Formats: sequence, C-alpha cells, structure tokens
Amino acid sequence: MTIDCDVCVVGAGIAGASVAALLAADRKVVLVEQEPHPGYHTTGRSVAIFTEAVAGAQVTPLTLASRAFFESPPQDFADRPLIRRRAVLTFGREDQRATLEAQFAALSPDHGRRWLAAEEIRTLAPILRPEQAEVGLLDPGGFDIDVDLSHQAWLRVLRRAGGDLLIASPVQAIERAGERWRVRAGDRDVAATVIVDAAGAWGDEVARLAGVAPLGLEPRRRTVAVMAADGYAVDAWPMCVEAEHSIYFKPDAGRLLVSAMDQTPSPPCDAWADDMDVAEALDRFETVTSLPIRKPLRTWAGLRTFAPDGEPVAGFDPDQPGFFWLVGQGGAGIQTSPALARSAASLVLGRPLPADLVGHDVSAQALSPARLR
Ligand SMILES: Cc1cc2nc3c(=O)[nH]c(=O)nc-3n(C[C@H](O)[C@H](O)[C@H](O)COP(=O)(O)OP(=O)(O)OC[C@H]3O[C@@H](n4cnc5c(N)ncnc54)[C@H](O)[C@@H]3O)c2cc1C
Repeated sequence: MTIDCDVCVVGAGIAGASVAALLAADRKVVLVEQEPHPGYHTTGRSVAIFTEAVAGAQVTPLTLASRAFFESPPQDFADRPLIRRRAVLTFGREDQRATLEAQFAALSPDHGRRWLAAEEIRTLAPILRPEQAEVGLLDPGGFDIDVDLSHQAWLRVLRRAGGDLLIASPVQAIERAGERWRVRAGDRDVAATVIVDAAGAWGDEVARLAGVAPLGLEPRRRTVAVMAADGYAVDAWPMCVEAEHSIYFKPDAGRLLVSAMDQTPSPPCDAWADDMDVAEALDRFETVTSLPIRKPLRTWAGLRTFAPDGEPVAGFDPDQPGFFWLVGQGGAGIQTSPALARSAASLVLGRPLPADLVGHDVSAQALSPARLR
C-alpha cells in the first residue's frame, strides 16, 4: 500500500515532530520514525535546559526567538506549563575570571547576567568547593524544559491537523520517480513531493539513501550520570557549569544530573554510557564539589550531532530539489526547536521567514546547507 502525501518527514524527534506539526496546517504530511517510541534517541536524552548563555551565529538568534513560545505556548498546545525557572551559574577560580569574562562578553544580548560574590555562590549551590568557585556569573533567565510534554504536544498538533505518524518504520530506500519521491519505510511505501531529513545522527545516512551528497555531520556522544543529592534540597539550585566546561550538574527531581560535557565522535547508533566517561565525570564532580561520591543511580548517553561549522542546517539541498535538511542542532536542539521549526516550515513552503524571527537575526542564508557545499 502506498501512502500519498506532500511532505514526508524522516525522524520523529523534537525536530521532525515540530516541523511536521507546523507543515500539517498547509500540507498532507507523513512523519516516519524507525523506533517504536518517537523521542527514543537524542530528544529523550537531553538535560533539558534553556539558556541564553550560548554562543552561535544562528544558535543564539534561534534561542532568543524561541523563548516566547516556551513562556506562552498556544493555549491548546499543552495542559500545563512547558517550563520551570532554572538559573544557570557559571563558576570558576579567581584565575579563571578572564575566561568567564571573555565567554560572556561574546554573548548577546545582556540577559540580566550578573557577577556573584563568593558567599552568594555558597548560598545558591552549597556543595561547590570554595576554592573552585571563587567567582561566578549568573544567568537568571534560564529554565528547565519539559521535553516530553513539548514533544508529545507537537505530535498531537500533527494528528489534529490530519497528519500521520508511522512508528517502527525505518526508512530503508528512497527513490526519485519523476517529480516525486518514493520512500520505503518499514513495510510501507510513502510517495511525497518533499522529503524533510530530520534524522538527527542519521541525517547523512538518510541523504545517501536519496542519492544526496552528505554534509559531513558529526554525531558526538555526551554522557550523563544521575547522582543522589545526599539529603540536600536541590530543587532551587541553579544549573552549575564549570568555567572551562569540564563539568556541569543540574538539579532534576531531587537528584543531580552530572556530565563531564564529553563529546566523543561516534557513528550513529543507540548510544550508551561508557564506564570510562562516567568515571571521568565522577572524578571531576568530586574535584569541584564536596558531595560524597557514590555509585550513580543511573547513567545514559546521547548523540549531539553537529554540522562542520557547528550551526544548525535548515534548507533545501542546492543540488537536489525536494530534499530538505533539518539537522545539526548539536547541543541546543530542544531550546531552539520552536523557532527552528517555524523557520524550516516557512522555507519548505517557499515563504519568507516570519518577521519576528528575522527581527532576531535568524537568516535563511545562514541556515542553508548551501553554505557547506
Ligand atoms: C546529554 C545531552 C544533553 C543535552 N542537553 C540539551 C539541553 O539542555 N538543551 C537543548 O536544547 N538541547 C540539549 N541536547 C541536544 C538535543 O537533545 C538535540 O539537539 C535534539 O534532541 C535533536 O533532536 P532531533 O530530533 O534532531 O534528533 P533525534 O531526537 O535523535 O531524532 C531523530 C530521529 O530520527 C530517527 N531516524 C533516524 N534514521 C531514521 C530512518 N532511517 N528512518 C526513520 N527514522 C529515522 C531516529 O530514530 C530519531 O528518533 C542534549 C543532548 C544530549 C545528548
């Protein structure tokens, strides 16, 4: 049986789900996912922070342009708030003050960040060792994102608009038939005018199936260990990030998510937490905090996928009309998803980017895969 549609989106993580939902208002959309559970890969493995303290030619504008959506989503999008306040504290030794200053000078705009005195750092995050946290910069405007709630909400919008989600349907073959694509997904065929490649770590592989030259995407593994908080009431603590990005920890449901911010290149796969990476994270955690180190309650790893220039990609392939890339979200694919999905949906429909996104300096040219050819 062949399912006919206008747009076939490959990959039902946050990127594919959000763009499919928006496109379904104007086009017949089929969203195809290889796993039985959408969100099984990177989307379900993030640490779910939104912070404007990120640097990137398009990552920053997309982040700033996404804030309003998280704060005030459309009324029928979700039945509870998508976010909860979570400040982000970047800390270091006195001799790292210049590093901190340089990092934050590169960020725009001034999002209310401020220097903290040592005593204030101790009050906000009492486990930080005083000699490791002599100076700190606080971004008070961050928040935790309820990723599952957002992801499920996008899938609901898709269904309400008449779009289809095919799960457990790996795309194994893609053929060009005249002006249309024929996509073999599990035991079904999907015929479409446009393919949106939102396959995360598999982005280049899906392109190859369609005869499209890869972009040189690089999936990089990042590991997280969940640690007991040893009696501390951690819920109001900020996320704490070491000045040179050697370690971070973030409160989560009364526990702490700890990562050595590793980024080990990996082929696309079902990533797992390597024992050595976990050991490294615990060692660094012990260096900066006084929390007694015990066995983690749980560990996981996920793949953050980067284009060669580290910026997200959204646009039609310059050599293959009908093949649209939506990849390379790296470590900010959740917090940029509302603005990136709106950008991608406009570009798929051949429309200009919405004015509010342009006002934030989101640029079709800067997102285009043509910049990488
Ligand atoms: C440890 C960690 C911490 C992170 N923390 C944050 C954070 O705090 N804030 C933030 O904004 N971002 C964070 N990120 C990054 C964020 O999670 C990603 O940028 C985002 O989830 C990418 O979404 P995606 O939809 O592109 O990828 P995915 O969620 O991986 O979705 C791609 C989908 O494509 C499917 N697929 C692939 N090939 C095929 C095929 N042939 N056929 C059918 N389906 C296919 C896959 O099964 C997968 O479901 C973090 C990531 C990690 C790993």
